[in-house]
Amino acid sequence: MPKKRRNNGRNKNHKGHSDPIHCENCFRLCPKDKAIKRFLIKNMVDGSSKRDIEEVSVYNEGDEKYQMPKLYIKNQYCVSCGIHARIVRVRSTVDRRIRYVSRYRKDQMSEMAKGLYRVANQRKGDKPVIAKEE
Ligand SMILES: [Zn+2]
Repeated sequence: MPKKRRNNGRNKNHKGHSDPIHCENCFRLCPKDKAIKRFLIKNMVDGSSKRDIEEVSVYNEGDEKYQMPKLYIKNQYCVSCGIHARIVRVRSTVDRRIRYVSRYRKDQMSEMAKGLYRVANQRKGDKPVIAKEE
């Protein structure tokens, strides 16, 4: 029988078992290594409301500007919900090899390539790191 994916759509290398998680959408149990995970960084308020809040805020006096906190959400979906919500799609054999990288991580990686950003688990032999200048 031909196999669609060498890893059967999972990342359970030689573990034998991986803990199940609940899907965010339908609450189905899904192995953690199989679940479709997306890391979301959202602003708490939309652009126009943010401007209104900034105008009346007392923290914005002087040079320092108040930084509005953001929402950091990790979503985990089962495969059915991932396909249904079009988070992932059916891809050709070649395209299936492209791995998902979150936008935040992609930015971090590009900055790291430029030598501007230090990533916590940077390995030996990686490019030298220069402190990020503000
Ligand atoms: Zn689901």
